[in-house]
Order: sequence, then C-alpha cells, then structure tokens
Amino acid sequence: MKTIYIPFEEVKPFLVLPPKAFAFLHLVRFLARNKGYFLYLAGGPVRDFLLKRPVKDLDLVLEGDWKELLPEILKEKGLTLLFQSPFLTYKLKIDEGFTLDLVTARKEIYPEPAHLPKVSPSDFKEDIFRRDFTINALIYGLTPPYEETLVDLVSGLADLKKGLIRPLHLKSFVDDPTRAFRGVRYKVRLRFDFAEEIYLALSEADKVSSFKKLSAQRLINELLLFLFKESLEDLPLLLEETKRLKLLNRTGLVLRKISPKDFEILELALIELSRKEAEKFFLLFLVEISEENLKRLGFSEKERLRLLKWWNYFFKEDSFFKLGIIEKVEVLEKLPLYFVFRLSLEETYREFILKFLKELRFVKPEVTGYDLLSMGVKEGETIGKILKELRRRRIEGELRSKEEELSFVKTLIFQSF
Ligand code: ATP
Ligand code: MG
Repeated sequence: MKTIYIPFEEVKPFLVLPPKAFAFLHLVRFLARNKGYFLYLAGGPVRDFLLKRPVKDLDLVLEGDWKELLPEILKEKGLTLLFQSPFLTYKLKIDEGFTLDLVTARKEIYPEPAHLPKVSPSDFKEDIFRRDFTINALIYGLTPPYEETLVDLVSGLADLKKGLIRPLHLKSFVDDPTRAFRGVRYKVRLRFDFAEEIYLALSEADKVSSFKKLSAQRLINELLLFLFKESLEDLPLLLEETKRLKLLNRTGLVLRKISPKDFEILELALIELSRKEAEKFFLLFLVEISEENLKRLGFSEKERLRLLKWWNYFFKEDSFFKLGIIEKVEVLEKLPLYFVFRLSLEETYREFILKFLKELRFVKPEVTGYDLLSMGVKEGETIGKILKELRRRRIEGELRSKEEELSFVKTLIFQSF
C-alpha cells in the first residue's frame, strides 16, 4: 500500500464547488472525525485532481454508517435527502443544481455474471477492490487514519502517470460488462490507452457471455452516457473505440456504418428533439433497424411493431417517392420526429428529409380558415382543400405572399361560380 501526504489546501483549488458544498464538507469531516469514522474521497475527484483537471462532483465515502451522521447533517444545514439507494448510497441536494453522493464503503458480491451485485458495508480496502479501473480506485482521506493522504492499493498512480486504463482484475467484465463501456469513455475523455488486461478481461467475459446477459436498461444507460456525459466532439472517437473492441457485437447488437454527415444530423436532432426523443434517436442512430436490435435496446413490442411497419413502408413499398410534395410532407408530419431524423440518416432519404426538417415543415399558408370564411367559402371540407392547395403552392414556390394567396383564392371562388 502506497500512501502520500497531500495537504487539503493543495486539493481545494481544483474543487469547483458551490460555497455551500465546502461548508458541508467541513461539517461532515467534523462529525465523522468525532465518531472515529474514516471519511474519504474516491474515484473521479481523486483521479481528476491528480490530473489537474477541475473536479465538479464529489463521491464522499464513509467507512461507517451514514445514518448516524445524517440527522445532524440535515438539521444543521437544512438540507433534504433526495434519494437513498439499495447500494447504501444517499443523494443530497446541496444547492440549486448541485447534488452530492454519499457512499458507504462496501463490498460487492456478484451472484451471476452481468447481474447487479449484493452489497454489504465493509472497509475502505474492499471498497477500493470493488471499483472498475486502477485510476478510479485511488482514495484521498479526509479524516484519520489517513487524513490528507492519498492511498493507492492498486498502482493507480502509476497507471495515471502512464495514461493507462487497467481493470482491477481479469473477471471485472464478467461481473459487470458496463465497465467496458466506462473504460471506452475514460480512454477517450482522458486520451489514455488500454492496458493489455482490458483485452484479457474481454475474453474472460466472452467465456460466460456476460455482455449478452446485460439487461437492456443497463446497456442503454451506458450508451446514453456516450452522448450525454461526454463532449459531443468525442462521439466519433467513442464509437470508433466501441467498434474496435466489438462491444456492441458482444451485447448482440449490430452497429450501423456511421458516416461523418450523420454526426451533423445528430447535432441538429439534439437541438430539435426533447430529451426523451433524443435518447430514442441516439439509440436508433447506432444500429440498423431490425427486430433483434430494437428488442435488444428495450423497445416495447408495440413500439417495435410501429417502427418496423414504418420502416417497411419506406424501404419495401417504394411508394413514398411517387407521392406529390405536399403528400410527402404530410406523411412525414404524422411520424414522430425522432423517427424522421433516423430516416434522414439513410442515403435515399437524406436530401429530401433534411429539406423537410429545415424548411418544408415550416411552410404554411398565411391565409387562415377564418380568412376563407370571411371571403364566403362555406364551412367544411372545401376550407381544408383550399388550405392544402395553398400550402402545396407555397411549398412549390408558386405563391410567395399573403396577397398572392388571396388573389389565388379569389380566382378559385370565381371559377366555382
Ligand atoms: P465521472 O467523471 O465520469 O463522473 P467517476 O470516476 O466519478 O467519473 P462515476 O460514474 O461517477 O465515475 O462513479 C464513481 C466511482 O464509482 C468511479 O470512479 C468508480 O470507482 C466507481 N464505479 C462506478 N461505476 C462502477 C462500476 N460499474 N464498477 C465498478 N466501479 C464503479
Ligand atoms: Mg462522478
């Protein structure tokens, strides 16, 4: 075990936290020290501080029982407990937009490959050994017996210096294949390399088909972190690395061939879509549309049927291109936007759908139903027909202003007499 004394004053400048978080940290240290509990920072903040990167969130770990400290912490600071997990962790809201994770030093036992572990409170050593990579297994003590001390049990410091992502043991991905996706994120984010053990751990996982056993929910959570936790410019690298390690194949998915133009569409989609829709789009961005892929990504049977029906319409029936422009627009308008974005990734549809997304869907006649009524058009079907005709002519560029629309309507009315 390697220990290095590092005064807290040296760590502090890297902690980019609201003032309330510092006051909170101060109190927790005081209370833990009084109880004789070892309190420490682990994982991300320690790694990032050592790399001289800003630390934006803290994992505070206690070798002891948080329940004994929590009532006083909550009362003293007037804080609310947001969440308590079955893994002995607590989430506290410290300030607007800032939460803290309180973690209990614990050990994990994996009853079956790729299933969630059974956890029980334990000491800091076992808490270190349950972690994913050596660079994430460094801890920094905030109370005795290792106050203001970096503790390295797994040569994490050496790997940090060499820039290597190394699992703690070769069965690491057997226990939890999500770690391989995490490894890709750290490799790309930090521009590190994989140690040889990564490949050995992947082979071990294959022996028990661990990636195949990973639940859809946990798989999609990991994939969504590529998009929402990492920077968008890094996405091509993340996917390249995922492909190189065949991670999606291992889970049973077939990764689509992704072109540079697709990333531009993704950027547009992120602006246009709600979070829920963006998530669905991103999952479909990664794969070919097939029953197996959709199932593996956790789409319900109802959603799968709908998606495949639409897909067949666009790729088997070959009738879309025979439609007039306004009818095309109307077909696309009836589909959820995330699906339309997905369709635009296909070469056959890219050009038309981008035009639809950027332009056509916003083209509407300026004349309204009320205008038509006041011009003497009878209520009912005719109004709809005229509005559609106006839209068609606007889309095709034949009409360009409200005046032109009005005179067109007048001719129509005149003709019908
Ligand atoms: P980030 O900057 O992405 O938040 P992090 O290291 O803080 O990096 P978290 O996902 O916040 O990562 O997890 C906190 C710590 O918990 C990790 O550093 C790691 O030690 C441990 N950890 C998280 N997920 C796993 C996992 N699946 N298996 C083992 N350890 C994990
Ligand atoms: Mg973190």
